[in-house]
Amino acid sequence: MRTIPIQGAGFKPYDVEIGSGLIAGAGARLKPLLSRPRVAVAADATVADLHGPALMRSLAEAGVEAHEIRIPSGEASKSFAGLERLCDQLLALDLDRKDMIVVLGGGVAGDLAGFAAAIYKRGVDFVQIPTTLLAQVDSSVGGKTAIDTPRGKNLIGAFWQPRLVLCDLDALSTLPDRQMRAGYAEVLKYGLLGDRGFFEQLEREGGRVLAREPQALLAAVSRSVEMKAEIVGEDEREAGRRALLNLGHTFGHALEAETGFGEGLLHGEAVGLGCAMAFRFSVELGLCAPAEAERAEQAIAGAGLPVRLCEAAGHPFRADRLIAHMAQDKKAEGGALVFVLARAIGTAMVVRDVDRERLRAFLVREGAEA
Ligand code: NAD
Repeated sequence: MRTIPIQGAGFKPYDVEIGSGLIAGAGARLKPLLSRPRVAVAADATVADLHGPALMRSLAEAGVEAHEIRIPSGEASKSFAGLERLCDQLLALDLDRKDMIVVLGGGVAGDLAGFAAAIYKRGVDFVQIPTTLLAQVDSSVGGKTAIDTPRGKNLIGAFWQPRLVLCDLDALSTLPDRQMRAGYAEVLKYGLLGDRGFFEQLEREGGRVLAREPQALLAAVSRSVEMKAEIVGEDEREAGRRALLNLGHTFGHALEAETGFGEGLLHGEAVGLGCAMAFRFSVELGLCAPAEAERAEQAIAGAGLPVRLCEAAGHPFRADRLIAHMAQDKKAEGGALVFVLARAIGTAMVVRDVDRERLRAFLVREGAEA
């Protein structure tokens, strides 16, 4: 088991615990954080069936009264309608400001219930128990919470940090392989953006991580969370270095937007493809050596993830539509295109005001329609 403290100037410090058996032991771990022994468990419906009983048992054993609320699985829950439904269920339980919300599930449950925690009665404490690899290494840590609107993803939200994050590696045993690979793209992203040694370790051990071998998984999740902790601790509100975590996201988000943020192209798959494109675009702009981009691409493809546009659901994409999405991205500054690109594996940087014509020509060479 590993414990990684998350500390920053603007928020109360909290721990991310990573290991096995954490769901079964959650009750005892949560009890000291409660001002009265009562919690709402906001659980992804699929995960509630698989891991809910162990969590509810553990809370009962610790003498904590727990009320389960099921969040329908899928991105559609991250909506105003989903938020209203969840808030109404919390109100019906008469959850107090001193009570706590425990979130069990992936990034969808975490983003939705985390946002509900931020606004319910002007803010209640919450604990994250992330059950996808993506949520364990990324979305559960750092305090970004949000819902989507028809105008775009994650546009309505808040920074609201959890009190504790429990990453139970055992929960990943039931995660479908495709979701595991999508989460692994985010793990690779950490190596690509800031830790060459970690990337090389993943080149050697990636297969063991994907096979869910406990030691390899513990090492990969721990290093990812450590890197996120380091960056978020310095820059909670994304004024500077936190933007590097968006490596692969400007391309990725545009592709997700074109495919409707659905099952066709998962977020992690879009990030993996986006990272491969960011490295190739870095080569194109003369920032990075071609061999580095090829090596990055090989690691992503080696995990069974798409690295070319023609391999992604939604192909063929239209270059102008992708650019329009990029200009609307939260990261775009007054319409100027902002990219996270790389000088080498392990050295990412923010590049502002990328020339649209150069980008369009690149996208067309990548296989998008002119
Ligand atoms: P998800 O929450 O939709 O989970 C993926 C699927 O796996 C769902 O069908 C879910 O029911 C199922 N599932 C979850 N855990 C399982 C388990 N242990 N066993 C079996 N099935 C399981 O998707 P995700 O990839 O975890 O998260 C994606 C969301 O996270 C997106 O909405 C994205 O915007 C958000 N996100 C947020 C941040 C942030 O910083 N807040 C960062 C990255 C992504």
